[in-house]
Amino acid sequence: MTQNQTERHELAQYENWIDGAHAATDRRMTTSNPYTGTAWAEVGDDPAAVGAAVQAARRAFDEGAWRTMPAAQRADLIRRLGALLTRDAEELAVIESRDNGKIIRETSAQAKSLQSYYDYFAGMADKLAGEQIAAPTPNFLVYTERIPVGVVGVIVPWNSPLALLTWKLAPLLAAGCTAVIKPSDLTPVTALLLAELSGEAGFPPGVINVVTGGAEVGAAISSHPDIDKLTFTGGGVTARHVARAAAENLTPATLELGGKSPQIVFEDADPEAATNGLLAGIFAASGQTCVAGSRAYLHVDIADEVIGRLVGRAGELVLGDPGDVATEMGPAASDDQRDRILAMVDQARAEGATIAAGGVVDPELGGRFVRPTVITGVTNETTIVRDEVFGPVLAVMTFTDEDEVIALANDSEYGLAAGVWTNDVRRAHRMARRLDVGTVWVNTYRNVSFMAPFGGFKQSGYGKDNGLEALDGYLHSKAVWVELTGATRDPFVVG
Ligand code: NAD
Repeated sequence: MTQNQTERHELAQYENWIDGAHAATDRRMTTSNPYTGTAWAEVGDDPAAVGAAVQAARRAFDEGAWRTMPAAQRADLIRRLGALLTRDAEELAVIESRDNGKIIRETSAQAKSLQSYYDYFAGMADKLAGEQIAAPTPNFLVYTERIPVGVVGVIVPWNSPLALLTWKLAPLLAAGCTAVIKPSDLTPVTALLLAELSGEAGFPPGVINVVTGGAEVGAAISSHPDIDKLTFTGGGVTARHVARAAAENLTPATLELGGKSPQIVFEDADPEAATNGLLAGIFAASGQTCVAGSRAYLHVDIADEVIGRLVGRAGELVLGDPGDVATEMGPAASDDQRDRILAMVDQARAEGATIAAGGVVDPELGGRFVRPTVITGVTNETTIVRDEVFGPVLAVMTFTDEDEVIALANDSEYGLAAGVWTNDVRRAHRMARRLDVGTVWVNTYRNVSFMAPFGGFKQSGYGKDNGLEALDGYLHSKAVWVELTGATRDPFVVG
């Protein structure tokens, strides 16, 4: 046996989850640990598996017990899944860190928070009533019913695999839909473990199906004619493939995409709190988060002080093993991602930027560890200020007044989120109103909750995850007209 074969046999093996059971595929792929750079598990990568998963989800929706199950019973199952995720949170967090290189502090906190999402949406399952609406004449009763859209294709990225899946899965289950899920090819394992837990929780077969793989599997889902709704989180290029395929079948889609989120610091802000917010906004998760606060606009009066603090703190952040609780920043998720980040920093330098901190691979750790990077001497025209880096790179600029900074902040093709740091309450609300983004954080950053709708404007996508609005994406509203008196009317006139 060759070394390669030996290594191959040592890889952990995981199978798709279809119709309530493991489903083996011949076509396989590996998933790697970004910290060590070595493959550690093997999973399916077969677009042909999508058909069986969609059929199973369709059966579970049309004929199975899910759609017609009393809502309170459906809610119990959703809650049970949440509780099992909490039971296994530590194990799931370790696997997630192994798969995407995010620090254990973050994956652990995320894994422990999942249950609250399932609990919240389970609580909604028996409250999805339509409404009686005013009838045009008294002889009619008119009301709406809210009914599940059907089979949902769920495609999610690698940066927060279980959390971003949960943002979609919890509401769609509460709505009475069934799911065909594709996790990222970089982080396929935890979604499969979640699916196994759904079996343990007692979900009917076919309600939750997971098919792992890369672009081909994703394309097979987004182009499948028997899928009733698509919900996607990822990058803009992939989103266009998904949206085109969805358009071909007229399948509605929710798209949660990237961002280039501004963080605005006014002269009256608490400089310590603002610096912490800027650092956490960009360096948490190594900048590999859709809401990364990657553009900082500092009022000229406090710019030097805040830049000094940022550069100092960026140099002190502890990089290292994501599995170590002392680690503050992990590696980039892949070699490609590291190379892309460094190439974008190089381009910024070529366009005249100053690299005030970082901009290099960590000299001691090497590998995929990019040092926390602070860039000055840029404008809104510099490429790195316009394009999403998805890495630990903060571009810093200055401004003098509110109108100027609103124009600068809104001058972006993205519109996901923004941070505002000020102690002036009127200004805070004025800013919140004028920023063209889906979420504004004032004197805080990167808060998310099952209660608050999350989604972008412009190139950051459309539709919402979380909050009551998330349910709208998985429900049809059906109008019902009942004639109450036996009155006859002209059948050739609409009205
Ligand atoms: P990606 O677009 O490369 O991949 C997302 C998913 O799409 C993966 O599961 C991938 O396998 C799949 N895919 C790839 N090609 C496909 C195709 N042709 N058809 C269908 N599916 C296909 O994104 P990524 O690199 O995994 O994630 C990073 C991106 O996600 C960033 O742009 C980030 O901003 C964005 N993101 C957005 C949010 C949000 O909620 N708005 C959250 C996290 C990440």
